[in-house]
Amino acid sequence: MHRWLPVTALTTRSDTVRKPLIAGNWKMNCTTTEARELARGVVDKTTDLTDRVDVTLAPPFTSLAAVAAVTKGTAVSVAAQDMHWADKGAFTGEISPLMVAELASQVILGHSERRTLFHETDQDVNRKVHAALAHGLTPILCVGETLEQREAEQTDLVVTVQLADALEGISAGEASSLIVAYEPVWAIGSGLPCDDAEAGRVCTLIRSQLAEAFGPAAADSARVLYGGSVKPGNFGAYLHHEDIDGALVGGASLEADSFNALVRTAAEQ
Ligand code: 13P
Repeated sequence: MHRWLPVTALTTRSDTVRKPLIAGNWKMNCTTTEARELARGVVDKTTDLTDRVDVTLAPPFTSLAAVAAVTKGTAVSVAAQDMHWADKGAFTGEISPLMVAELASQVILGHSERRTLFHETDQDVNRKVHAALAHGLTPILCVGETLEQREAEQTDLVVTVQLADALEGISAGEASSLIVAYEPVWAIGSGLPCDDAEAGRVCTLIRSQLAEAFGPAAADSARVLYGGSVKPGNFGAYLHHEDIDGALVGGASLEADSFNALVRTAAEQ
């Protein structure tokens, strides 16, 4: 039997305290000069909070080195926004896990913009997840349904299949370090965030699926984030849900003030 069949009972209650994580996905924004300045603005204002909240910055490839230099010696982590799965070769325009691992400790994989605009499949994402883990990079795996899929009541199925396919073949030990981001496609950049109770429900589903596939200990220590139009004004409500461990933030991560406000909110929970 396929071990990723939909779970019947959502059982994620546990005493595990997971450190919240606020990750900024800068997407295709910021020159290197701007990236350095933005990273400094985050590092300067969040150093007193990083004992309570983890902070990740995901600049474009061209600014990874600059942001890595600014964050060196601080608790702020750096992530790439994507990568190829091969170590090297004739893949013009691509970046390999070896290259990412020199500059970052995490990598966003399977973002809906990669899936939609660049035709990435679940199988591509799975290859990238394996490559990331093999090179010591923590995947920030993105899953989420389109508006059409939500309206057809396929949300749970879509998320379950994306998760199952992306994580096919990984071990429980590897699963325990995972970061999964639930990003409903319709909520991204739209100013229409997913209702916090519904986001919490899907994040619970994700953790339940992880428990089903990898056991409760791995599911307990993996972190599940919400992403999609997160702003300082709406973020607190998400954190009240026991299965939401933070946020993957686009627009609000492009200004140090709004991003730092999110980090502060998470630190104060
Ligand atoms: P916004 O916060 O701009 O909606 O973007 C979310 C996102 O796609 C983060 O990866």
